[in-house]
Amino acid sequence: MIIVLKRDHKEEERQQLVQTLRALGFAVHESKGVQRTILGAIGDEEALRDLPLESMPGVERVIPILKPYKLVSREFHPEDSRVEVGGVSFGPGPVQIIAGPCSIEDRQLLLETAHAIKEAGATCLRGGAYKPRTSPYAFQGLGEKGLELLAEAREATGLPVVTELMDPRDTVLVARYADVVQIGARNMQNFRLLKEVGNLEKPILIKRGLAATITEWLMSAEYVAAQGNRRILLCERGIRTYETATRNTLDISAVPVLKSQTHLPVLVDPSHAAGTWELVEPLSRAAVAAGADGLMIEVHARPEAALCDGNQSLKPERFARLVEQVAAVARAVGRDVGGGR
Ligand code: PEP
Ligand code: MN
Repeated sequence: MIIVLKRDHKEEERQQLVQTLRALGFAVHESKGVQRTILGAIGDEEALRDLPLESMPGVERVIPILKPYKLVSREFHPEDSRVEVGGVSFGPGPVQIIAGPCSIEDRQLLLETAHAIKEAGATCLRGGAYKPRTSPYAFQGLGEKGLELLAEAREATGLPVVTELMDPRDTVLVARYADVVQIGARNMQNFRLLKEVGNLEKPILIKRGLAATITEWLMSAEYVAAQGNRRILLCERGIRTYETATRNTLDISAVPVLKSQTHLPVLVDPSHAAGTWELVEPLSRAAVAAGADGLMIEVHARPEAALCDGNQSLKPERFARLVEQVAAVARAVGRDVGGGR
């Protein structure tokens, strides 16, 4: 339930409303905008059935929430939210590009890649230390050693780092190194994990599940927000369809749909959608044209030697070209790219 207060409501009226709602067992979240104050009442809306909320002093409008998510909804927070990551701002403004290898494998390769992507205009470095692999025999990531290397690359380049957390038992460790904690597609509905990161004071990047609807995805974001962490980034990375020409099908329409449903920044990962490096540039252009606030792209100094996702990883020179292309599209839709391109 969303309660819009009158522009000229009195402070006592607001307090009385909050008290009444709390007495009925609701959690009340306030959003004070420039023009309006909005109260979000979270609880069983049935309990409000007999209460003439709309006629209470100070109330302008009551909007029952049909959608199952509230905190992440546009109704609750009409303005686009901004998520700050070590000096990089995701949301309205420049399109930010996160780039780096699928997995952290080797110190030299990671440092070389990190410097190259920075030079090309990326503003965050990605790299997995814990990898969700389909096969138990495939490279599973370097674990803590990988996190140390990632921190070294951050130190060397100044780029904030994004890395995946797969297991609640590693939360403290991963959060010690990460600037943004990534929840991967396969864990989008790992509710214990979502609650865990909801208690962190770090931004959380939630990738869309392989077969998740947009509503299910937003419910996952709601899990994080409900614990108190509102610094959430959503990342479309392709969904499973009948099509086999690409690894996944990039759902471009998810971008404008999310923009209408939520205030959270929306990112696109064209690499995992495409599965092959040749498609990464055109999909990146499409994502930015559709309104994405950022991109996440796999780049590897030597894709042919990569232990994970080499065929969808761009070489640094190709990535640099992609940034130029994306910058042109960003300008066409009234934006820039971060990193000064
Ligand atoms: C990744 O970004 O490294 C990854 C594994 O992606 P996804 O969870 O989208 O498959
Ligand atoms: Mn990958």
